[in-house]
Amino acid sequence: MRLEGKVALVTGGGSGIGRAIATLFAEEGASVVVNDVVLEAAQKTVEGMGPAGARCLAVKADVSSSAEVKAMFAQIAARYGALDILVNNAGIGETDSKHGEEIRRKAEARITELMSGGKIATHWDATSEMSDADWSRMIGVHLNGTFFCTREALKSMATKNRGAIINMSSVAGLGGLEYAPHYSAAKGAILSFTRAVAKEVASRNIRVNAICPGWIDTPMTAGQGESPLLLRAMLSRIPMGRTAHPREVATAALFLASDDSSYFTGQWLSPNGGLFIGG
Ligand code: NAP
Repeated sequence: MRLEGKVALVTGGGSGIGRAIATLFAEEGASVVVNDVVLEAAQKTVEGMGPAGARCLAVKADVSSSAEVKAMFAQIAARYGALDILVNNAGIGETDSKHGEEIRRKAEARITELMSGGKIATHWDATSEMSDADWSRMIGVHLNGTFFCTREALKSMATKNRGAIINMSSVAGLGGLEYAPHYSAAKGAILSFTRAVAKEVASRNIRVNAICPGWIDTPMTAGQGESPLLLRAMLSRIPMGRTAHPREVATAALFLASDDSSYFTGQWLSPNGGLFIGG
């Protein structure tokens, strides 16, 4: 019970990695506030926790709205008092589903061209074709959302001068994803934000770290796995030869949330099967 008596907020906790983190934290004794943009999804996570769910709470809020984030923190303060742990996990992979289909089509075409020994004639053109709206939405959910929640969490944690914040970045933030410049930019900025805030609040005994997952099996990545060609190409780039279960990320979050990582701040852990190795 490494989080006994702790109050944790997990954003985007209604699915995938966030659900696995919220569930593991509850198993470890925390009272978990499960946030999601869809209330029913957050409620389903709490219902799946069994008896531990009784001390947990599902809260609907869009993290890209500072007003909704402020209202969520007011609700948390009213029920639990100060927050101990924040996991900034909420995220989107695509801003519209057509874009996802286009990426898959281009990726398959490029692999086919490469394997036939010719030049690659299908170009990504992801940046040149990006709309203002798609760019702003991606930055809004990931980067603004991380900032809005961190700002409110720090006010709460400063009342006790203790806390742990975990920001969900990605291997995309480390190495860049050629078909997702907006996602890569947001995840890279989250890493820089993590480092800056870690230094800022260390004297308050608040630790801030990040996780950079590789390919994790969640609804966000389900589309990529549907194409056997893309799946094989992706797996060939992962030295461990497999994707991961969300719980394999949740265990990293538990480490960073608990006193086991008491001397870690401003760092990132990357459960990625070897997909990205380097500094
Ligand atoms: P997921 O299964 O799609 O879960 C993300 C959750 O966040 C969903 O329930 C989603 O709701 C919610 N959400 C989206 N926008 C939100 C908002 N504005 N406010 C509150 N909640 C919001 O995705 P996941 O794979 O678990 O991803 C979790 C995090 O890990 C993300 O930050 C993602 O970028 C990161 N990550 C994932 C992978 C991977 O391979 N899966 C790799 C690296 C990093 P809707 O479903 O309604 O949109």
